[in-house]
Amino acid sequence: MIFRRLRKLILKYMPDVAKTGLLCAMPALYHVFEIKPSSCNIMITNRCNLKCLMCKQWREKPGEELNLAGWKKIVDDLQKNGFRNIHFTGGEPLLRGDLKDLISYCAIKGFTVGMTTNGMLLDSGTLCGMIDAGLRSVALSIDALGERYEKIRGAPGSFKKLQSAAAAIAEAKKTRGIDAYINFTLMKENIDLFRDVKEFAESIGLPVAICPLDKTSAIFNLPENEQRLWIYGSEDMKRLAALLEYVKNEMVRKPHSLILNYPGVDFIARYFTDPRQENIPCVVSQDRIYVDPYGNVFGGCLSMGTFGNLREMPFGRLKKTDRYRSAKKKMFYKKCPGCSCGYMFNVWHTPGLIMKGFIVNVRTALKG
Ligand code: SF4
Ligand code: SF4
Repeated sequence: MIFRRLRKLILKYMPDVAKTGLLCAMPALYHVFEIKPSSCNIMITNRCNLKCLMCKQWREKPGEELNLAGWKKIVDDLQKNGFRNIHFTGGEPLLRGDLKDLISYCAIKGFTVGMTTNGMLLDSGTLCGMIDAGLRSVALSIDALGERYEKIRGAPGSFKKLQSAAAAIAEAKKTRGIDAYINFTLMKENIDLFRDVKEFAESIGLPVAICPLDKTSAIFNLPENEQRLWIYGSEDMKRLAALLEYVKNEMVRKPHSLILNYPGVDFIARYFTDPRQENIPCVVSQDRIYVDPYGNVFGGCLSMGTFGNLREMPFGRLKKTDRYRSAKKKMFYKKCPGCSCGYMFNVWHTPGLIMKGFIVNVRTALKG
């Protein structure tokens, strides 16, 4: 009895990075040391007020979304199952008029709450209200500036709104201490525009995360993206190499202006020719689930299809199904199409890459 309790405690508190190392070396122990999910991305709506050229959301007819009471039940279920973080995405989450109420409910239940937004509906008052309700982090999507932004986002006149949202977020980061950053979706269309976005972000004090275009996600898996937006061929690769050189210099000049490390840069360099990168286990698929606007549950990624619906089956039962257990194992060992989803999380949890990043950092510091 004592032995069993001790084992449970060790498994619960053993750091995920140690489990990752062990599971890579001994796949047979997968179900003993399995990493339990702690984060949930709630895609609260598929509706959006922009028409981004890489995105499928706005091209599809939305269905009937879960209402506030339905989401509250799901939040209760997640709490019972040990989840600690909830991040709202969409579509555009601010199109849900009840988002603030749901944020407040999640915060009361003890969750750390974040949101990714395109900023079109975000002004200072709205943001402050959400922070008062319990919002703790905001990611703002920016892929270019000015007219190029409006072209990518398919919305003339939208850049001004974006600027004011960015200013409100930057102010809240300074005065309210929220975690805030810019998400830059890297694709053929904007390889050369990263520098401008980075300078803009730096001028208002927000760091930038690079999200290489994902062909597998429910949002971006448009067949034409392969031709139009995927980075391939020698010209594109030269532009990508120049960008990554710039990024590496910026990491030395201003380390906190980017949410990136050296193994992350290596990941991006290889990503467009090898999206799977089998040597890096997919830890994010273990730590995180997605729930779509209708209650369907996905693993860390969306490419494996849904495992079930939380309106019909609580998570405690769903996680014991063969479908969930076997898909989760496949995801960890990258028996998947591969994508950029959570790649920084993955490299941060891979012992060999952490060591590599540490060595490069020490070398760079000594040179400097
Ligand atoms: S990428 Fe985001 S902001 Fe753009 S249309 Fe899709 S959901 Fe909306
Ligand atoms: S790397 Fe594979 S398992 Fe991980 S999120 Fe992407 S497609 Fe899913």
